[in-house]
Amino acid sequence: MCFILNKGVDEFALLQANLGGGVARSVTLAPFTSFGIGGPAKYFFRAGDPGRLATAFYLAITNKLNFFVLGGGSNILFSDEGYNGLVIKDECREYVVSGDVVSAQSGALLNDLVDATMKDSLSGFEFAAGIPGTVGGAIYGNAGAFGKSIADVLESAVIYGIDGRVKIVKNGYFEFGYRYSRLKDKPELILSASFKLEAGERSRIADKIKSYLELRKAKHPLTEGSAGSVFKNVKKPKLLSAGKLLENAGLKGLRIGGAEVFKKHCNIIVNTGSATAADVKKLARIMHDKVLEKYGVDLEYELLVIEP
Ligand SMILES: Cc1cc2nc3c(=O)[nH]c(=O)nc-3n(C[C@H](O)[C@H](O)[C@H](O)COP(=O)(O)OP(=O)(O)OC[C@H]3O[C@@H](n4cnc5c(N)ncnc54)[C@H](O)[C@@H]3O)c2cc1C
Repeated sequence: MCFILNKGVDEFALLQANLGGGVARSVTLAPFTSFGIGGPAKYFFRAGDPGRLATAFYLAITNKLNFFVLGGGSNILFSDEGYNGLVIKDECREYVVSGDVVSAQSGALLNDLVDATMKDSLSGFEFAAGIPGTVGGAIYGNAGAFGKSIADVLESAVIYGIDGRVKIVKNGYFEFGYRYSRLKDKPELILSASFKLEAGERSRIADKIKSYLELRKAKHPLTEGSAGSVFKNVKKPKLLSAGKLLENAGLKGLRIGGAEVFKKHCNIIVNTGSATAADVKKLARIMHDKVLEKYGVDLEYELLVIEP
């Protein structure tokens, strides 16, 4: 149960009271993102159990507080001005493997599930090896690689709607598409999810994971901050790789401030150490416009840009 904030009442004190303490003020967001970029959040709360995660979400909605649910922070760009509201960091990391099903809380790390299911000789999660982030973030954006995505293994999920109702929903509910789930249009909170896998041979699963990780090592930044692909690949009228379009447009290595087009994969922007969100946005705009001008292709963002 949450209190409703009244006009003139101290917002921070009421957040603290409802969340049992633990709400911090003016927390720099950069360390909570894979980009290493982002100014301060007005309020920041680390939710280590689903009850507190749901309460923080409900509290923000009922009180019309600006809020953002943060998973691993690996697909987002926070602004240099930070975030003028409550950032709820999902740290609900528990999961259990039972038979051929793995059930995980929304903050469980995708790579922990890859390891755990491999150890139990379950096949299906290999594609996710090396994708940073959490179960919640992966469902939100239907994360995927090597021809598979979370939509191929998700069976059901427990979600908390903005109407305050908890629902158990099946895969079809999410209307998954390429890097898309309905949550992008109708935000709801994922609390947990179950994934159905198949019995496999442990050594074959391990080999597949190893080969995927090697491919990633060759094409992804190892030391610099990034947030993975900046743009989606083009699917229609024909399949076009955003990385190839950007490379052919001559953008490899282009630098604005501390942000640079990654030389081994032009659809990635890296933070060379001192990049600001403004640098990244400017560089991404140039990349977008150059491809539009040269090939008439209007690239769509995969990176989520979060305004203050
Ligand atoms: C080096 C690198 C490689 C990558 N490779 C890939 C790749 O191969 N394939 C791919 O698809 N992506 C890739 N990514 C991008 C990123 O890892 C994925 O998009 C990932 O699924 C994001 O998860 P996250 O937990 O970090 O989400 P965040 O970045 O924290 O958040 C993303 C969105 O999910 C929402 N969200 C998070 N948790 C919840 C929840 N519990 N309920 C509701 N909404 C929630 C957030 O509000 C936000 O809108 C890569 C990124 C990096 C840095």
